[in-house]
Amino acid sequence: MNRSRWMYGDRTDSAFQKGVAEFVSVALEHRRVSDDPMIFCPCRDCSNVKRWTDIHMIEDHLYRRGFRPDYET
Ligand SMILES: [Zn+2]
Repeated sequence: MNRSRWMYGDRTDSAFQKGVAEFVSVALEHRRVSDDPMIFCPCRDCSNVKRWTDIHMIEDHLYRRGFRPDYET
């Protein structure tokens, strides 16, 4: 057996996607229980300071910009 492993779509990438998916589900759940339509955006630019009502916009920010460097789940 001499097959190399196909590592594209690497760990960082899938970990990142998982992070985004987790953030989205936590944020939506939080919004449901808190009854607050605004969600803090943890992307690099918004840095958990700006808030948006559209979760897809936040998702888009995260895919374009990434989480702010000190973001913790
Ligand atoms: Zn943002």
